[in-house]
Amino acid sequence: MLKKRILSGMRPTGKLHIGHYVGALENWVNLQDQYNNFHLIADYHALTTNPDTTNIYEDSIDMLIDWLAAGLDPKKSPMFRQSQIKQHTELNLIFGMLITVNRLERNPTLKDQVRDLHIDNIIFGHLGYPVLQAADILLYKGDAVPVGEDQVPHIEISREIARRFNNQYGNVFPEPEPMLTKFARLPGLDGNAKMSKSLGNTILLSDDPETVKAKMKKAVTDPKKIRKGDPGNPEICLVFSYHKKFNAGEVSEIDAGCRTGALGCLDCKMKCASKISDLIEPIRDKRKYYEKNLDEVKDILADGEKRGREEAVQTMSEVHDKMKLG
Ligand code: ATP
Ligand code: MG
Repeated sequence: MLKKRILSGMRPTGKLHIGHYVGALENWVNLQDQYNNFHLIADYHALTTNPDTTNIYEDSIDMLIDWLAAGLDPKKSPMFRQSQIKQHTELNLIFGMLITVNRLERNPTLKDQVRDLHIDNIIFGHLGYPVLQAADILLYKGDAVPVGEDQVPHIEISREIARRFNNQYGNVFPEPEPMLTKFARLPGLDGNAKMSKSLGNTILLSDDPETVKAKMKKAVTDPKKIRKGDPGNPEICLVFSYHKKFNAGEVSEIDAGCRTGALGCLDCKMKCASKISDLIEPIRDKRKYYEKNLDEVKDILADGEKRGREEAVQTMSEVHDKMKLG
């Protein structure tokens, strides 16, 4: 039977954090045997919130290294840059004709970004983020898109665009479904609902154990629990939410210790820091290998771009046929 396809990407905004990992990357790695995966370095999408391209190549390579270190296998999962496969921009233009400005202005992810990043005037490309994303997904006929929760409204827009294209011109595209993990929105160390590079509230996959400890020390907790002995409420504690993901085996013990007050916040944070370091340590080690073998990383990218392009050319020829263009 033909395997279903996964398409998912990330913007190259530097080294990845554990939110990217638990919300998306871990899922990509787990699904790569069951599906045909395609993974996109969304370098054009990075321009929606930062026009500076000085480090875009280095940032893309840095992110690719994190993907490889986390276990993506380049033989199974081609990885490529959006900017190197021109068909993304062509399909973006066509899809821009199939959705209204009004619909795009109602996108809740855009509203969150405008609030969090204090954006006064929205650029055209930012409004069109989900249109380019629909092109990214549908160019590879993605059936499923493993992403964090913030991306779900975008996938809905991709579905609408796919439907509209198929109705107008004939069937080319599947209607992609989002695939969420249990931790589809990991909160940040400052208590913001989303861990995010731009909010500076992250633990990076490349952080060493000392850095993880230092960052955890600053994490917000139940404000009513001030010293050891004070009873706390794990339900509202950020660190407890991390324990649920990274220290699942000890959750009930930590819950009890927090409620009685026997477990102090610092001890609780250090237990959590050590579990997070256990998870990311093998990724950090593999990262070091790729950092020393950059030629191998560049070859992986070149091969991914070749394979991605073949798919993109094929889909665009179907699009042109159906649209009677050419
Ligand atoms: P940042 O603001 O840190 O750069 P981002 O949201 O801009 O993050 P993208 O490249 O747009 O990152 O998204 C990469 C993927 O990671 C998406 O699937 C997104 O849903 C997921 N993701 C990002 N942050 C989190 C998080 N805190 N929890 C769960 N998933 C996340
Ligand atoms: Mg990003």
